Amino acid sequence: MKSTPPSPSFDTPSPSVAPKGAIPNAAVLIQRWQAVKARIAQAALKAAREPQGIELLAVSKTFSLQDIVTLKEQGQRCFGENYIQEAVEKIESAKSFSPMKDAQWHCIGPLQSNKTKWVAQCFDWVHTLEQLKHAQRLNEQRPAHLPPLNVLIQVNVDEGPTKAGVQLQEVLPLAKEIMGLGRLRLRGVMTLPDFSPEFDAQLAMHQRGQAVFASLQKELGEVQIDTLSMGMTQDLEAAIVAGSTLVRVGTAIFGGRTEPTQD
Ligand SMILES: *Cc1c(COP(=O)(O)O)cnc(C)c1O
Repeated sequence: MKSTPPSPSFDTPSPSVAPKGAIPNAAVLIQRWQAVKARIAQAALKAAREPQGIELLAVSKTFSLQDIVTLKEQGQRCFGENYIQEAVEKIESAKSFSPMKDAQWHCIGPLQSNKTKWVAQCFDWVHTLEQLKHAQRLNEQRPAHLPPLNVLIQVNVDEGPTKAGVQLQEVLPLAKEIMGLGRLRLRGVMTLPDFSPEFDAQLAMHQRGQAVFASLQKELGEVQIDTLSMGMTQDLEAAIVAGSTLVRVGTAIFGGRTEPTQD
């Protein structure tokens, strides 16, 4: 393995950017990241899929920009964040690190009307669109100098009434509305099913997500609809077997988190 350059240091990271848990050193972080890539490749092989067809989103919420830069230097391009204020600080600070120039930032936290402006200005992707109202706000607030914001509709595959995400029968109508918004680019769907320890149960849930994705592709075309965001640390294998094109992995790369209570 090639030696890694010294990591950048930061003067006074604000509290929301400072890592909550133990800071893994760069070598450990890189090792874990490589192990996740190997898991993805292995799962792709089993599913007779091309590993290049599965994007790894490194979910860096609660972890430092320093860890993000370390992985970016190794070739990790996409980073996922949930907490808008934390994310905005990191994305702004990242601008002073040249390796971060072509990083892609994905918003995977719940959207709130009073934060859509930040999302529209700072992120490249949003995975958690569930309301036309939010889509319209993002569309209006997306700055003209940036490319259209890539969006995914979050789908409620569990079908529980209290679960986040759009009900199955409402996905297509919402998708068609989003297609009319010029500053957004609809790319597909995202799912966040309740965790189950059983592989077969994980697979069944992910197959529902795949079915929604496939029906959207049929309606709107496979060039337009190319992203199925599905699978996390504990169920990425089942998600890949079911057809996921993007897995969102935090814990297996960065370690355990202490989630903040505030946003
Ligand atoms: C935190 C988070 C993840 C990452 O979860 P891990 O289990 O740590 O891999 C993925 N997706 C969403 C929406 C998240 O909030």
